[in-house]
Amino acid sequence: MKDLVTVEDLSIGFDLRELVLPAVDSISFSVGTGETLGIVGESGSGKSLSARAILGLLPSGGKTTGGRISYQPEEGDAITITDLPKNGRAIRKLRGAEIAMIFQEPMASLSPVHTIGNQIVTTLRQHTDLNKRAALARAIELLDQVGMASPAIIAEQYAHQLSGGMRQRAMIAMALSCSPRLLICDEPTTALDATTEAQVVDLLMKLQQDMKMGMIFISHNIGLVSEIADRVMVMYLGQSIEYGLAGHVLRKPAHPYTRALLGALPAFAEPGSELASLQGAVPDLAARPQGCTFHPRCPEYAGDQCKTRIPSVHVVANQHLARCHIHE
Ligand code: SF4
Repeated sequence: MKDLVTVEDLSIGFDLRELVLPAVDSISFSVGTGETLGIVGESGSGKSLSARAILGLLPSGGKTTGGRISYQPEEGDAITITDLPKNGRAIRKLRGAEIAMIFQEPMASLSPVHTIGNQIVTTLRQHTDLNKRAALARAIELLDQVGMASPAIIAEQYAHQLSGGMRQRAMIAMALSCSPRLLICDEPTTALDATTEAQVVDLLMKLQQDMKMGMIFISHNIGLVSEIADRVMVMYLGQSIEYGLAGHVLRKPAHPYTRALLGALPAFAEPGSELASLQGAVPDLAARPQGCTFHPRCPEYAGDQCKTRIPSVHVVANQHLARCHIHE
């Protein structure tokens, strides 16, 4: 499998007045053609920032402070995204055409003053040679492909006229309009009810297989990620704390945080046992605990060294890494 995107030792920080507040700390991962990487973690773990960095779309004040992101186009040499000028022509050419993104809340991403059809037509005309008429025909085809009944009518409607599930389907149609090779889905189902969530996830999986795209699927729901990911990266407070093939990580979680996330799910709990619940919350980035940043929430495993020494990354099995002292 060819790697489409490779992230090596990526660090991201936010400019404060006289210092840079670290938000993502030296993470590495890759995604291949036709592969799904699931990135899991609670809010504030840095998962969305890490994915947005691939498109050079960090929020205001955010910047990469180390490491490198490279993208392998279908032909030619790899492009080092981290070397491209911010919002320059080269990165804009990649966005939408080669790498597309679906956001959590489509209402915030879709224009309220343009019809769904017009928005897809604009994207198509930015990246292809299609004339207006052909682009509209393609937009209707895409809306049909994402399962919209009466796609020609939907193309003439505005975002506020659609339900949450339909808006997300419209976002997916727009993201797929230029047949991207990598699709980043940032919590695409969080705002949806359970039935619509299942439909949207099925749709994404089908489209990924049909189009042989690489996919990064970000979620706080490890149960959802377990259904679709080939590889999983678990993040906590800006660090990758467990990474590996989904089968390994989910069957034999090596980090107490991953164990806690899985232990709260009926599908992964021992039959007849009580479901676990993870105590506390992710600390503020500015109040990062010393040593292992997870130690205040790790009463079952934490030892004295966890409060003072930062754990290293250990190989616990083939292609399975965990950042925890218990593997020393
Ligand atoms: Fe828990 Fe210590 Fe491992 Fe951190 S390093 S997860 S505190 S056992």
